[in-house]
Amino acid sequence: MKILIVIGTRPEAIKMAPVVMELRRRGADVTVCSTGQHAEMMEPIFAFFGIAVDVRLEAMAHAGSLSQLFAYVVGALDKHLEASRPDIALVHGDTSSAAAAAVACFHRMVPVGHVEAGLRTYDFAAPFPEEFNRRLVDISASVLFAPTEGAAANLRQEGPSDKRIVVTGNTVIDALLKACAIIDADAALNRNLAARFSFLRPGVRTILVTAHRRESFGEGFRQICAALAELAGRSDVQIVYPVHLNPNVKGPVHELLGKRENVHLIEPLDYPEFIYAMRRADLILTDSGGVQEEAPSLGKPVFVMRDKTERPEGVAAGCITMVGNRAGRIVEVLSNYLDGKDGGAPVTANPYGDGRAAARIADAVLKSG
Ligand code: UDP
Repeated sequence: MKILIVIGTRPEAIKMAPVVMELRRRGADVTVCSTGQHAEMMEPIFAFFGIAVDVRLEAMAHAGSLSQLFAYVVGALDKHLEASRPDIALVHGDTSSAAAAAVACFHRMVPVGHVEAGLRTYDFAAPFPEEFNRRLVDISASVLFAPTEGAAANLRQEGPSDKRIVVTGNTVIDALLKACAIIDADAALNRNLAARFSFLRPGVRTILVTAHRRESFGEGFRQICAALAELAGRSDVQIVYPVHLNPNVKGPVHELLGKRENVHLIEPLDYPEFIYAMRRADLILTDSGGVQEEAPSLGKPVFVMRDKTERPEGVAAGCITMVGNRAGRIVEVLSNYLDGKDGGAPVTANPYGDGRAAARIADAVLKSG
């Protein structure tokens, strides 16, 4: 059985690494294809986990717009599919790479397995274009790996029968647990990580921030920066913000927050560095999907700068608080938390997975052959 795994971006690399490792551990014939959408941020993750990339496409060199990126991946992958004829292709989540790969596979009648199927906001504008991408993949996939019962319920009400759906947990937890074990066993890496963050003052609470969503470009980012500027006025917090490389993010963030003493604007972090920062943080303010899923495993409260979420499980469990992307509300909710007025529920269990999702996916993939 020939298995093709297509990956385009950093979160896909993190979340598919455990699947690649598990399938290869079981002796499966796996080809890993990088579309090149975020090659720069993706390659170090595979290097960290010791995963070889077999095929490299060059999406970034051809991507001025979302459509150009999409068209390039469909065309380039089509050539690879024609030559290699895999029995199944696995794609992850909701990126342009995943959606384009699903279309290319559909045209070549290669069955697709969708990892992290069934997430929904039912709003094509938020997140954009991810809500469209994941629904496109879900309608074309033969096997739907839903991370939670809630995601499986979304799929069932849209039509697919239980035969196509496997509830697995989210592989992001598998990746996090593996990465923590690698980090904890490596004294030199630990020393390097501590040195990398030596700018953080001990005894001062740390807010870790990430934000990159396309629908927040412009006014949304100005509001987020205004909130951070106001929170930075407190002497009892320090803010660490690894800034996404997209110019729509970098520009306003550096312009509005660049000169504040207790705001540390830094380059995007390598995965082990980011895990260190999450462990070090007292709270996390983010618009990221993956970070919402990871943080409960590290016992960290998460405040999500979005109005809608496709991850309601964390909100129901009390470990995620939605704060939107207006400055006033972000400042109010975080100030209440920092002042001990509203501590939220203690983070106990992670609703997104138990670290064994990749094994369940590998079982189902190998059985389908
Ligand atoms: N991450 C990272 N470095 C960073 C910020 C995030 O390695 O500077 C990791 C994080 O641990 C998580 C993933 O990247 O697993 C989230 O990616 P992102 O927020 O870009 O995408 P999303 O999850 O929203 O699709």
